[in-house]
Amino acid sequence: MDYRKIFEVKPGKKVDLNKIDPDFTDDFAGKKDAAELVEKNSALLKQLQYELYAENRQSLLIILQAMDAGGKDGTINHVLAPMNPQGCRVQNFKVPSSEEASHDFLWRVHRAAPKNGEVVIFNRSHYEDVLVVRVHDLVPKTVWRQRYDYINDFERMLAGHNTRIVKFFLHISKEEQLKRFEERLDQKDKHWKISAADYKERQFWDDYQKAFEDALTNCTTEFAPWYVIPANQKWFRNLAVSQILIETLQDMKMKMPEPTVDIDEIRKLAAAEWKKIKK
Ligand code: AMP
Ligand code: MG
Repeated sequence: MDYRKIFEVKPGKKVDLNKIDPDFTDDFAGKKDAAELVEKNSALLKQLQYELYAENRQSLLIILQAMDAGGKDGTINHVLAPMNPQGCRVQNFKVPSSEEASHDFLWRVHRAAPKNGEVVIFNRSHYEDVLVVRVHDLVPKTVWRQRYDYINDFERMLAGHNTRIVKFFLHISKEEQLKRFEERLDQKDKHWKISAADYKERQFWDDYQKAFEDALTNCTTEFAPWYVIPANQKWFRNLAVSQILIETLQDMKMKMPEPTVDIDEIRKLAAAEWKKIKK
């Protein structure tokens, strides 16, 4: 299976989110049916991240965007769980601070980009500057319209610095969002996640979908592709994201660094030390 092919937004084609089924689960009968593959993928992700870290020459930037309750947090938890925390980082992007707002919109983003060997997940990103900012007219159209080009140039530059970029839009339905808000109301330990704006923002649902469609259409590139992930079913969302990450990391063809010492010589030293102990 090649999930990159299935879910990629192809450059030059206009995205229509209405035509993408958020309930899609491929040929899997359900969560149980996919469990074995999920296990296998976790082990593979762990190994590939280890190789990326050891090689220390490339990096992986994962960008997550979604409507509220779209599953960004759950995806981060699932994808990072098998990885070694030493080589991973999550970066959240909130409403810009006054310092951030007094710089260009990519300033805070660039300094959060991964260094060699690292996996970084952006929980929201510079795309907010063509999403929430556009929907709520936080800057004039003449300003946000230019940002698609700036974003593409910026991402091309990162890619040129051996940063592999994969961007996921977690696609849920409007009804599924309402269901997830309900679950938050029902579970006391999720109350902290509820914000007064959640229900109010639903009146802008169509505007957001349109803004997402333009961001996906204008900013999917060979070096930084967008993937639309059917995300109504959390287990399938996790599976699809992990599958695409594995395919991407395998494509990066990491090479373990050559040893910096003569291993045979070191073996001899070790043997001599053992001899001393056993005497
Ligand atoms: P959360 O991720 O739920 O903690 O919420 C973060 C909030 O920050 C969301 O409402 C985002 O829309 C908002 N946000 C993130 N980046 C920006 C930005 N560049 N401009 C305005 N609002 C933003
Ligand atoms: Mg929120």
